[in-house]
Amino acid sequence: MHLARFPRVFLAHLPTPLERLDRLSKELGGPEIWIKRDDCTGLSTGGNKTRKLEFLMAEALAMGADTVMTQGATQSNHARQTAAFAAKLGLQCHLLLEDRTGSNDGNYNHNGNVLLDHLHGATTSKRQGGLDMQAEMEAVADRLRAEGRKVYVIPGGGSNPTGALGYVNCAFEIVSQANDRGLRIDHIVTATGSAGTQAGLITGLKAMNAGIPLTGIGVRAPKEKQEENVFNLACRTAEKLGCPGVVKREDVVADSSYVGAGYGIPRADTLEAIRMFAQLEAILLDPVYSGKGAAGLIDYCRKGRFKKGERVVFLHTGGSAALFGYDSQFAEDDKALTVA
Ligand SMILES: *Cc1c(COP(=O)(O)O)cnc(C)c1O
Repeated sequence: MHLARFPRVFLAHLPTPLERLDRLSKELGGPEIWIKRDDCTGLSTGGNKTRKLEFLMAEALAMGADTVMTQGATQSNHARQTAAFAAKLGLQCHLLLEDRTGSNDGNYNHNGNVLLDHLHGATTSKRQGGLDMQAEMEAVADRLRAEGRKVYVIPGGGSNPTGALGYVNCAFEIVSQANDRGLRIDHIVTATGSAGTQAGLITGLKAMNAGIPLTGIGVRAPKEKQEENVFNLACRTAEKLGCPGVVKREDVVADSSYVGAGYGIPRADTLEAIRMFAQLEAILLDPVYSGKGAAGLIDYCRKGRFKKGERVVFLHTGGSAALFGYDSQFAEDDKALTVA
């Protein structure tokens, strides 16, 4: 697999660390848990979108764009990483932020990722929840084009075959780190949303015949829908790479049991996972994605879904900047841990 054939802007801090989580593994008493630190990709507090944007932004530059646009939820990590990447490249950035939670919390609407979007100089506009955001974005892009701007539109989450190349690359990176250190990996677990991360990973894993099963923990769509989205994108990514058909439908496994009331609304087990990672491993998760992914991982361990002695890698996709938009979820900790 020859990824150097595709244009890429090298900006992420790679390879990200692959680390063993001793205290969490001991607490759960099951498999040996490892973490792939894609929260440490380096761009404006890091996260998984940076790997995708390395390939997407190269396309934007190749077409001579002066403006990039993308869309996401109010606390979108993807929007923030796009704003940061655009700043680094000297491109203008406009973000459409969809109100998926209906929250009128000041920190949710202005702190965390939103604060960073604006610090990077991106302009934002809001949309009510439930609209066709891709269509909204195209309409704004057309307006900007009519004004003479050259606009490159990035889909939500950066999830198309170009963006997914970033996670094909991550699959190679994980397996190469494991090979160099003599680590047999039995399973990989990650949060899955707009599907590019899981689609890229499974395409890379299958293309190199790694024999490592991958489970995506859903954050929004029901299982069937999520698996279908991931599978479709994986098929298109494999075609782009010149290995059509390497991913079979049964290779794509998503579990949407940890979504709760909806996208961006944490459950009790999401918050528990965030506390466990923070207090046992000094690692910051987020309330929208990695907290739900980790809640799934923890539940699988407790239910004995992984055997003792197996080695499970949790891909940490980042998102900790969103914590500052969700501080109200942790009001209890604030009260309980403040002492006279
Ligand atoms: C976007 C995102 C995900 C999900 O990745 P997809 O490629 O959209 O499936 C997971 N975790 C975090 C922190 C994210 O920002």
